[in-house]
Amino acid sequence: MKTFRIGGVHPAENKLSAAEPIKVAELPKVAVFPLSQHIGAPAKAIVQKGDKVKVGTMIAEAGGFVSAPIFSSVSGTVLKVDTVIDASGYAKPAIYITVEGDEWEETIDRSTDLVTLKERRELTADDIKKKIQDAGIVGMGGACFPTHVKLAPPPGSKPEWIIINAVECEPYLTADHRLMLEHADEILVGVTLLMKAMNVGKAYIGIENNKPDAIELMKSKTMKFIHDGDIEIVPLKVKYPQGGEKQLIDAVVGRQVPAPPALPVSVGAILQNVGTAFAVYEAVMKNKPLFERIVTVTGKSLAHPSNFLVRMGTPMSQLIDACGGMPEDTGKLIGGGPMMGKALINAEVPICKGSSGVLLMNDQDAKRPEPQPCIRCAKCVSACPMGLEPYLLSKLAEAHNWDRAEAEDIVSCIECGSCQFTCPANRPLLDYIRLGKSTVLANIHARKAKA
Ligand code: SF4
Ligand code: SF4
Repeated sequence: MKTFRIGGVHPAENKLSAAEPIKVAELPKVAVFPLSQHIGAPAKAIVQKGDKVKVGTMIAEAGGFVSAPIFSSVSGTVLKVDTVIDASGYAKPAIYITVEGDEWEETIDRSTDLVTLKERRELTADDIKKKIQDAGIVGMGGACFPTHVKLAPPPGSKPEWIIINAVECEPYLTADHRLMLEHADEILVGVTLLMKAMNVGKAYIGIENNKPDAIELMKSKTMKFIHDGDIEIVPLKVKYPQGGEKQLIDAVVGRQVPAPPALPVSVGAILQNVGTAFAVYEAVMKNKPLFERIVTVTGKSLAHPSNFLVRMGTPMSQLIDACGGMPEDTGKLIGGGPMMGKALINAEVPICKGSSGVLLMNDQDAKRPEPQPCIRCAKCVSACPMGLEPYLLSKLAEAHNWDRAEAEDIVSCIECGSCQFTCPANRPLLDYIRLGKSTVLANIHARKAKA
């Protein structure tokens, strides 16, 4: 079975909520929308205190090309434009809306009727890209890169395939799995739209083989869309971090993306998350901007691990309550999964475009064992999917040797945590590497700005 070539680890899967159908989360009393929910320039608020909005009203416009507008997920009155502590742990400008009723913009098609390209032959590639940009769609896997930017490859590059990331290799998370089981048709139409937008005739959907029901269902549905392009489901061996861009391209089409500035499109691939394909369907065929998403709320001590359809701006605490409340032994609250997720300051952080999951880690799992001296076993080197030397990089970052860290290619680290996971001496490798990477990137940007 296909997989990527270099490194990788096998953390316990703990997919506790895999069999839980998606439930619609209750509306919050107040919804909070940070203006930075994507990579790039923050959006600019276009509403002020007292303004009335509906579900789907634009409340912040894109702050540039690499940016995305933000839409209200609720109807009500703008309470204030202030700040909120988001998943990054920092206070960010945000719009607060008091919820009143549930009135949607009339332009949104709320029917569940499937609309395919057969019924919308008039749509051009430019129409599709514009709808995606106007709907504020960003990568739903957590990276939050504006999708319209990914669909504008540099001149001279030639996309050959769309590769859909339906791997969901992070332990615990099951949102993409459930989305495939419950919205396979819409996802596949979304894929055909992406293919048309990029003028490519082939798409692959990579799914790890711990989701056999999703693989079978998606396979059985692809023929239905054959008139709109060739879509192939690719079952993949379970190995973390298969969902990394470079790892998935290697696993699916066997090509290796060179070091930056090369992009996936340099080897012919445009990657999109499966949730993004669904959002593209809704934006183009239903005129629905991105204001809700599927979120897994999970943890070993949680009474009812669940998957929810959540309006953006809903506080995580509300979802935790709907799962039976915060367990007493909660040691850490994580936005995302245990490998690449980030610890949250509190449960009032609002759900944003990139919120794939909320993990409540119990005391026992949250406790980090005491780090011991490195025993030079090289396990971290074998585990690194980017072919780096994690021990060396962490040591260089610890010593603030930024020039050498840059020379050793610290910026290629994808922060997957495989090195730290595998280290028998419990070295906090990723913590130091993250610090080193962000410092080196800042130095590179400062140099470029001066030049
Ligand atoms: S976190 Fe970085 S250094 Fe560690 S294994 Fe992943 S890519 Fe390699
Ligand atoms: S895995 Fe840990 S102990 Fe082994 S070489 Fe790397 S840092 Fe040292």
